[in-house]
Amino acid sequence: MYLSKLFVPLLKEIPSEAKIKSHQLMLRSGMIRQSSTGIYSWLPLGYKIMKKIEQIVREEQNKIGAQELLMPTIQSAEIWKESGRYEDYGEEMLRIKDRQGKEMLYGPTNEELITEIFRASVKSYKSLPQLLYHIQWKFRDELRPRFGVMRCKEFLMKDAYSFDLSDTEATISYNKMFFAYLQTFKRLGLTAIPMAADTGPIGGDLSHEFVILAETGESRIYSDKRIFDLDISKHSSEDNSIKELRKKYDSFYAVTDDKFRKEDFETKVEKKHQLVTKGIEVGHIFYFGDKYSKPLKCKVDLKDGRKVNVKMGSYGIGVSRLVGAIIEAKFTDNVMRWPESVAPFEVAIIPSLQKNDKSIYAKAETIYKFLKKNNIDVLFDDTDEHLSAKFKKFDLIGIPYQIILGFKDIGDKLEFKEVTGKTETMSLEEIKKKLVNKRNLN
Ligand code: ATP
Ligand code: MG
Repeated sequence: MYLSKLFVPLLKEIPSEAKIKSHQLMLRSGMIRQSSTGIYSWLPLGYKIMKKIEQIVREEQNKIGAQELLMPTIQSAEIWKESGRYEDYGEEMLRIKDRQGKEMLYGPTNEELITEIFRASVKSYKSLPQLLYHIQWKFRDELRPRFGVMRCKEFLMKDAYSFDLSDTEATISYNKMFFAYLQTFKRLGLTAIPMAADTGPIGGDLSHEFVILAETGESRIYSDKRIFDLDISKHSSEDNSIKELRKKYDSFYAVTDDKFRKEDFETKVEKKHQLVTKGIEVGHIFYFGDKYSKPLKCKVDLKDGRKVNVKMGSYGIGVSRLVGAIIEAKFTDNVMRWPESVAPFEVAIIPSLQKNDKSIYAKAETIYKFLKKNNIDVLFDDTDEHLSAKFKKFDLIGIPYQIILGFKDIGDKLEFKEVTGKTETMSLEEIKKKLVNKRNLN
């Protein structure tokens, strides 16, 4: 992509309404544009990053055997009346009527709808267990939308639902999701800690919130800091392995505000290991048994002819919130460091162009064409801005690698710079190999 053609409306000033760095950076680097309070359009740069995050979330769901489907954004009020949540949900729910006066709503979550689909389609124990998910826009009329995409009214969520015959089997599904979440966040370059959470209005008894550390987070967290050093790389998605992993996590104290008890914290965690800070909730998993299957009469036949309510869990990831959360975690010293797995481009070519000197431009364009031909996603800065202005711009956009063509002649070699600042002189062939290898690692 030629930078001069990219639709990326960069802003020079920090917009005054943006209070935290992710919101500021997303506006300044032209990733999003507010359409009305808490509702955003995703411009090409932001959309590309969000799509990459979405794809990683999808791949990790597929790996544990979850199947993707797509439910609508608009739901009928009827099933919500059946479950009893139509009234309970309150003003966060956006209620609408169609031309026949039928009560509809913009889905804030999908427990009811998925249960309705399941009860209409599955009759026998033989079809269980089942894990289904979709990645769809949700609407919650939040009281105080703020911090850009972190707390907005319309947001993209991955929500999965598990269906099992018994509590024991349901725990296996829950554990698979627990594992998939840790893998997902790791691939996104984040350390997300599963914290014992309150089940809130969704109900039920087993729940973890996945939280990343950030001063601007809305959740206060209390933990044994050693939990951040746990390594998941030796574990697999096989149930016994995840059980061991869960045991390791459960052995360290880690809770958010709702579950915090001062006495517990002080007796369970030695002073030197205590960590009290703030975090951003990026995912939340629940097991709630028959909370929805009972009122919605979602039953299956057992071998002996008896009918039982299916046992369910639900599992959410804030896909659009993650874009902001990654920025909060990675934006330092005015430089954005997108993890390679979600970076908007794999590499940038930054030549020092001068109006009358066509030779550097021609060399840069040859490199660009070569990398494109090798399927590397490259952004070529073909503008004739001064190098220092270009560097500032790329600090904002945050591409992990840069090929810089300066004034100094280094023969056939090129200056290859990592976002960390490390610079090497390499041939184009070596650069290509390095980029392809990096991609395979992600
Ligand atoms: P929160 O406690 O932040 O309000 P929640 O508990 O209401 O979130 P869930 O119902 O568990 O959220 O939704 C699953 C995930 O969706 C959350 O972990 C979060 O990442 C994301 N999410 C929830 N509400 C919003 C929102 N208003 N804007 C952006 N993302 C959101
Ligand atoms: Mg939550």
